[in-house]
Amino acid sequence: MRTFDSGEKSLKRLAVHTITTKPWSIHEAIQKYSAKGIGGISVWRDTLEGENLSVIGREITDAGLEAVALVRGGFYTGTKEEREKSHEDNLRAIDEAASIGAPQVVLVCGSTPGISIPDCLKQIEDGIGRTVEHAEACGVKLSIEPLHPMYADIRSAVSTMKAANDLCDEINSPVVGVAADVYHIWWDPELEKEIKRCGDADRLFGYHICDWKLDMEDMLQDRGLMGEGVIDVASITRMVDQAGFNGYQEVEVFSKKWWAADQDLYLEAIIDAYLNKC
Ligand code: ZN
Repeated sequence: MRTFDSGEKSLKRLAVHTITTKPWSIHEAIQKYSAKGIGGISVWRDTLEGENLSVIGREITDAGLEAVALVRGGFYTGTKEEREKSHEDNLRAIDEAASIGAPQVVLVCGSTPGISIPDCLKQIEDGIGRTVEHAEACGVKLSIEPLHPMYADIRSAVSTMKAANDLCDEINSPVVGVAADVYHIWWDPELEKEIKRCGDADRLFGYHICDWKLDMEDMLQDRGLMGEGVIDVASITRMVDQAGFNGYQEVEVFSKKWWAADQDLYLEAIIDAYLNKC
């Protein structure tokens, strides 16, 4: 993987999540990102259905891109049966990441109504722990992504960088770390301390950027581009860089509004927002 200097912001350091330009196939995304000089691509699994994964991996490198992450695994909570099913799927996600040459799988850890948050966290710890050996064997890292607490009902019992760091401490494996996404963590008064803690332990594996809109209409599919909302992305980027992070800056935006727009113009807006508004 390429590494970047602290404070560097360049198209080479920019990665885009395929979900951001959802209307495009994986082939279109690779071609369009590459044509703009973008350095990285984070691949959502829905774009891989029916595709030959090693061919996709070659297509990515031939285009001069790097696969930054496979998104996503996780959902470790629930009944024993549900957890077994998700365990199998998480092993597959690790295999898929290895096949396309992505060094990490991003984990949305899950939460189940009726199971307390502490019990969900225990299930998450067990679930990740069960896949560590396979991840190590495949050379793939596992990145716990804390989600905003508004998703603590069904998406993730891991709501803060502190909770993610605590989980990493418990699991204690060099392949288990954290993906920090500004959308989920910007509000946290302990953010700087916990980002530093994560960096000091060499566990900060990913950094996702977007914005939190004041006129958000949908808690899932109305994220903003950087500059469209209230997050001071630049200051979080500084915290992350100061914690020793030298990886890609990944734009990840779910937005019905932007998906309805011309995707070529949208990609230009993404680049402009990245270079000039954060
Ligand atoms: Zn994210």
